[in-house]
Amino acid sequence: MGFLAGKKLLITGVLSNRSIAYGIARACRQQGAELAFSYVGERFKDRITEFAADFDSRLVFDCDVGDDAQIEKLFSDLHAVWGRFDGFVHSIGFAPREAIAGNFFDGLTRENYRIAHDISAYSFAAMAKAALPHLNDQSALLTLTYLGALRSIPNYNTMGLAKASLEASVRYLAEAMGRTEDGRAIRVNGISAGPIKTLAASGIKDFGKLLSRVADAAPLRRNVTIEDVGNVAAFLLSNLAGGMTAEITYVDAGFSQTAGLSADQV
Ligand code: NAD
Repeated sequence: MGFLAGKKLLITGVLSNRSIAYGIARACRQQGAELAFSYVGERFKDRITEFAADFDSRLVFDCDVGDDAQIEKLFSDLHAVWGRFDGFVHSIGFAPREAIAGNFFDGLTRENYRIAHDISAYSFAAMAKAALPHLNDQSALLTLTYLGALRSIPNYNTMGLAKASLEASVRYLAEAMGRTEDGRAIRVNGISAGPIKTLAASGIKDFGKLLSRVADAAPLRRNVTIEDVGNVAAFLLSNLAGGMTAEITYVDAGFSQTAGLSADQV
């Protein structure tokens, strides 16, 4: 029996079998969790239904997190099947392409800023608010962030601002949900993953160069995988991490703790 046996978790953000959410789903299923999935766009329904079947799930819901009504419907539909459940993974990010390429100012418009923050940051807090009535005691929420929240990283640009907002949301949500009025303890954490080649990441200009520079400089001298992230995610979603909340945990082969240089490079 795995350490997530008996937990019911919603996984958002599976788009391909390279998605970070796919790695998280695999690790959670291996540890015994029962899973449901949400995706955006009717055209992906068959694909996500097949992925869900990989994890013994028939629960797939269409939800564009840019729409409050769809977020409400997602959780009321999930509640209709599961009753209360034990948390969700927010593995969602989006910024218009010109906002994650080249000169910071070129992509900086009010509309690009709004979209990046709406889809990549506000959606996590909005989902937490909508899910709250349906969550069991000892539930856990998890989101995915990136070092660009704290440091300027070439091309990450407007998305870095959105990730900074997302990381602040983790701390405020953790405080708001840590002891609810009816006595439930709900934990909220983030994983700051090192760069991984996924569909979202391929939208970032020169992402391939970033991957190789990070692999050269990281203490482990490699990039991380969706399995690396998935295993830490499963732990954070479980009662093994019952004393951890409001944290951003780095799964990045150690890169964030270097000055961007390895011993081989000096
Ligand atoms: P991905 O392309 O596989 O996943 C991104 C997901 O966001 C997709 O499933 C997409 O459908 C979803 N999405 C976008 N707009 C949406 C909307 N309006 N409503 C609902 N869903 C929407 O890429 P990924 O790299 O697995 O990204 C998952 C998360 O991990 C993102 O938050 C990303 O910023 C973060 N992250 C990625 C990396 C990396 O290098 N890949 C590193 C750190 C953090």
